[in-house]
Amino acid sequence: MKPLLVPLFCLIVFQPALAADSAISPQALAEQGLKAGARFPGLADICDLSRPLALPATPPASATESTQGRPARPETSADLEPQKVFDNLYFLGTGGVASWAIKTSEGIILIDALDNNEEAKQNIEGGLEKLGLNPHDIRYLIITHAHGDHYGGQEFLVNTYKPKVLMSEADWKELEKPELEFSNPDWGIPPKRDVSVKDGETITLGDTVVQLYVTPGHTPGTLSLIFPVSDGAEGHVVGLWGGTGMRFGPDEQRIRTYSASAGRFRDIAEQQSVDVFMSNHPARDGALEAIAKFKIRSPGEPNPFVAGHAALGAFELLRDCSLAQAERIQQGN
Ligand SMILES: [Zn+2]
Repeated sequence: MKPLLVPLFCLIVFQPALAADSAISPQALAEQGLKAGARFPGLADICDLSRPLALPATPPASATESTQGRPARPETSADLEPQKVFDNLYFLGTGGVASWAIKTSEGIILIDALDNNEEAKQNIEGGLEKLGLNPHDIRYLIITHAHGDHYGGQEFLVNTYKPKVLMSEADWKELEKPELEFSNPDWGIPPKRDVSVKDGETITLGDTVVQLYVTPGHTPGTLSLIFPVSDGAEGHVVGLWGGTGMRFGPDEQRIRTYSASAGRFRDIAEQQSVDVFMSNHPARDGALEAIAKFKIRSPGEPNPFVAGHAALGAFELLRDCSLAQAERIQQGN
């Protein structure tokens, strides 16, 4: 009898669960995602099933990626001030796109280069100086993905500060294609091939280790990151999602890949005790609101970026709502 027990157990326990999962409607999936990620309203458009996912007819006027009709760059926040958000993490972005600097005991790891050389000079070089950091300490430039709003300022940074430039192999290859996926006259030129990062690799600089994961979907080799931060006596862990929008249109397989990446990264984030969700667009992760709160934060008040377990909800939203989009495409809607 014993050999039969295992298959029977599988039949009873697992088959109904699978059937239930595959029967869930796109609407129910999207609602589940919205609920999980309620703390992050900047992600909610991913769950909007009412509009078709379509490629824009012309590139958006703004220099940042936009998503289905939502302006990517709020006019009022274009000149966002640089801001120290943790003891070792600094926001250096514009209102439309973020660059983050991780300060380590042996120099600075920079995440993304903004749209163009002008922004890199003003917001990254100028931002670091305003915050009392030395841009000559930049050792690494991690580019999350092969879109110009994230690499466009690299030329100035590479020529001036000579950091190693890191991208995934898949996204280096994207930049070597005859035509870029998206182009925009406001974006600077792509970087020359440098360091190619593999999934699960880490970079260590002084006292800091940054984990890099290849999370394909937004681009074939989008990098998402996990790294530690501190706030006084408190330690926290950031999970930074490297590419959010689905401006590439109704490509069902690509969206399923996106969903699988978000689900996998959510599980890694849970294992690594991630309690801070971050993005490379300040409208996505709530950075615009959080940075405003720093201006009036009293000592001892909680850090507005720390979400605790709710941080995982952002990845659950991305997982469930992208899957909802794929399902509705499959159903012909
Ligand atoms: Zn992008």
